Amino acid sequence: MNEAFQAIAQAAHALARRLPYIIVMTVAEVLTGEQRARIERAWGHLPYNVYGSTESPIAAECERHSGLHIFEDVIIPEVVDAAGNPVPPGEYGERLVITVLFRRTQPLIRYEISDLVRLSPQPCSCGRTFALVDDIQGRVEEVLTFDGLNGGRVAIDPIFFEPLLGPIRAIAWQVVQEPTELVVRLSGLSDDMSCQQIGLMLDRALRARGALVPKVTVISVDRIPRTAGGKAPLVKSNVPRIGAPVGSGSAIEGKLCSWTDRV
Ligand SMILES: [Zn+2]
Repeated sequence: MNEAFQAIAQAAHALARRLPYIIVMTVAEVLTGEQRARIERAWGHLPYNVYGSTESPIAAECERHSGLHIFEDVIIPEVVDAAGNPVPPGEYGERLVITVLFRRTQPLIRYEISDLVRLSPQPCSCGRTFALVDDIQGRVEEVLTFDGLNGGRVAIDPIFFEPLLGPIRAIAWQVVQEPTELVVRLSGLSDDMSCQQIGLMLDRALRARGALVPKVTVISVDRIPRTAGGKAPLVKSNVPRIGAPVGSGSAIEGKLCSWTDRV
């Protein structure tokens, strides 16, 4: 799911669903509940979310839309923790490890994908027996860590931002942690809520989770910037990992709406 798809969904809604379709599928990025609802409003049907990597398809939704069935006929999946130990269904792993059964020239055996994946402890009501992924929170690199209000460090999962930013009337949003601030980009912003209110709302929510954020910067942009691979992750961190050289972070572009400063 991405910015362009949301723009198409809005256009389809404006055209009273005159756009023909056979099936709506989303790939490559985390599909949020708000995005799913927008697509349903536009086309009248829920999208089929497909999960995969460059190296292999991994899973797809069935008609029940209650999770993604892993393609266990072509891959062997393992949900593991940071130490590589198996994680039971119902709990998030720190990595998904796959062994691909169909590659003939470049074997992939226990290939690590750093996605936070949770398998469903319940079988799907459709009757298919392939394992069901009931949630994908994105890459482990998308987990942001902040100084804690009461000391220590506080980890914020990427899914934390969806209920806060998803309902805002905008085509797309992105949260980027820079070394000295948290940058929020909103494209196609048409909400009654001002950028200042959005910044304050986020600041309050993060503090309620015990995270100390030095500064929240809200920016209205024409388009969410994409990576070299063409993706626009909802959440990412430009904070150097421990031991890596300190960089200056990514450049800020677009119209600066407002910001909130914290001591
Ligand atoms: Zn199913």
